[in-house]
Amino acid sequence: MRKPKVVVLGAGYGGLMTVTRLQKAVGVSEAEITLVNKNDYHYETTWLHEASAGTLHHDRCRYDIKSVINASRVNFVQDTVVSINKDEQKIVLENGELDYDYLVISLGSHPETFGIKGLKEFAFSISNINSSRQLREHIEYQFATYNTEKPRRDERLTIVVGGAGFTGIEFLGELANRVPELCREYDIDAKKVRIVCVEAAPTALPGFDPELVDYAVNHLQRKGVEFKIGTAIKEATETGIVVAKDEQVEEISAETVVWAAGVRGNSIVEEAGFENMRGRVKVNADLRVPGFENVFIIGDCSLIINEEINRPYPPTAQIAMQQGETAAKNLSALIRGGELTEFKPDIKGTVASLGEDDAVGVAFGKKMVGSKASFMKKMIDNRSLFMVGGPGLVLKKGKFKFF
Ligand code: FAD
Ligand code: NAD
Repeated sequence: MRKPKVVVLGAGYGGLMTVTRLQKAVGVSEAEITLVNKNDYHYETTWLHEASAGTLHHDRCRYDIKSVINASRVNFVQDTVVSINKDEQKIVLENGELDYDYLVISLGSHPETFGIKGLKEFAFSISNINSSRQLREHIEYQFATYNTEKPRRDERLTIVVGGAGFTGIEFLGELANRVPELCREYDIDAKKVRIVCVEAAPTALPGFDPELVDYAVNHLQRKGVEFKIGTAIKEATETGIVVAKDEQVEEISAETVVWAAGVRGNSIVEEAGFENMRGRVKVNADLRVPGFENVFIIGDCSLIINEEINRPYPPTAQIAMQQGETAAKNLSALIRGGELTEFKPDIKGTVASLGEDDAVGVAFGKKMVGSKASFMKKMIDNRSLFMVGGPGLVLKKGKFKFF
C-alpha cells in the first residue's frame, strides 16, 4: 500500500512541535513526512524583540532545523511556499511542487497594518530574523551618523513604537537598555534621544492585569520612554508619523518607526481560499479545517475560541506548541487508525520581559514582577527549546544569565 504523504508547512513553534512529535509517533514504513520552511533555520520569534534592539545577537535566536529533526524519518525541504491548491492537494513552492495526503499549515503571521497609509513603506516590523537584523542595523546607523552631520538632525535619535501590546512593551524594554550603550559608543548626549510609544487603546497592554501594566509603564518611563496613550497612528511618512488623539492631530518627526501593533495570519492561507478572519481559520476542535478532513491549521494561522469569554485566544507560541502536539497525535491517529483528540489549551500564564533583568507576568495563577518574573521568563524561553530539542538544545541556545 502507498504510504500517506504528510506535508508540514513552516518550521516555527507549531510546525517543529508537530514534526518532532510525529517522527517519534509513526514509523518510516507508515508515512512519508516532509517539512517545508523558507530558511534552513528555525528562529525563536519570542526573542526577536531582543535581536531587533541589539541586546541579543540574532544568531542566538536561531538554530539549524536539521539539528532537531530525524533525517531518516523526515524529509526537509528548504523552499518558500507560494500557494496552496487545496482542491488538487498540491503545494506550489518557489522551486517545485509537492502533493499531500495530509497537510499541516503552520506558516505564522504577518504584521497587521489595518490599511494605514505608509506603514508598509516606512515602518519596520519585528517579524523574523531579516526584519530584526535590519531594524537593529538601522537604529545603530542613526546613532553612528548623528555626529557626522551639520546641522545635526535630532529626528535621527527619535524612535517611535506603534502599539503597546506585548511586542511593543518587550521591545521598549530592550531599547531602553540599548540606548545608553549606543549613546556611550557614539558620543551622544542621552537627552537628545526620544523613545515614543503610541498606543490607541486607553491603556498599555490592554486586557492585562492593571497593577502589572502600571509596573511596566512606570519602569519604562523611568528609563526615558514617553507614552502617548489613547492615541492612534494614522499615517507613516518618509519623515515620521501622524498621530491623533480625539480630534487633535500631531506629526512626530522620526527616522525610526516600528510597527508593533498586531498580527494577522499568513496571507497564503487567505489566498488558498479557506474561510478566514484576517488570515486566521476557525478550526474544529481536532484542529482540522471545517470541510477539509485532511488539513490541519495551527499556530498564528488558526483561530480558536476561548469559550469562557467567547473571544478568540490571542495567537501565542504557547498555544502554537500545544497545538503542534495535538496535530501530531491526530495525524498519527488518522494514519494508524484511532480516535482523534480535541485540542484544549492549557494556559500556564503570560510573562512579558522589560529588558534583560526585569519583567511582569502571571504564571500558574501568581502575579510577579522584577527579577522573579525575569527569571520565570527565561525559564519559559528555555522550556520551549527543551520541548523541541531536549537538554542539548537548551545547553547550546538557552538563557542562563539570570540576575
Ligand atoms: P512561527 O513561529 O512564526 O513560524 C512560522 C514559520 O513559517 C517560520 O519558520 C517562517 O520562516 C515559516 N514561513 C513563513 N512563511 C513561509 C513561506 N511562505 N514558505 C516557507 N516557510 C514560511 N508568544 C508566547 O506565547 N510567549 C511569548 O513570550 C511571546 N513573545 C513574543 C515576542 C515577540 C517579539 C513576538 C513578535 C511574538 C511573541 N509571541 C509570544 C507570539 C509567538 O511568537 C507566535 O504566536 C508564534 O511564533 C506562532 O507560532 P507559529 O508556529 O504559528 O509561527
Ligand atoms: P497585540 O495585538 O497584542 O497588540 C497590539 C497593540 O497595538 C494593541 O494594544 C492595540 O491597541 C495597538 N494598536 C492597534 N492599532 C494601533 C494604532 N493605529 N495606533 C496605535 N496603537 C495601535 O499585538 P502584539 O503585541 O504584536 O502581539 C501579537 C501576539 O503575540 C499576541 O497574541 C501577544 O499575546 C503575543 N505576544 C506575547 C508575548 C508574551 O507573552 N510575552 C510577547 C509578544 C507577543
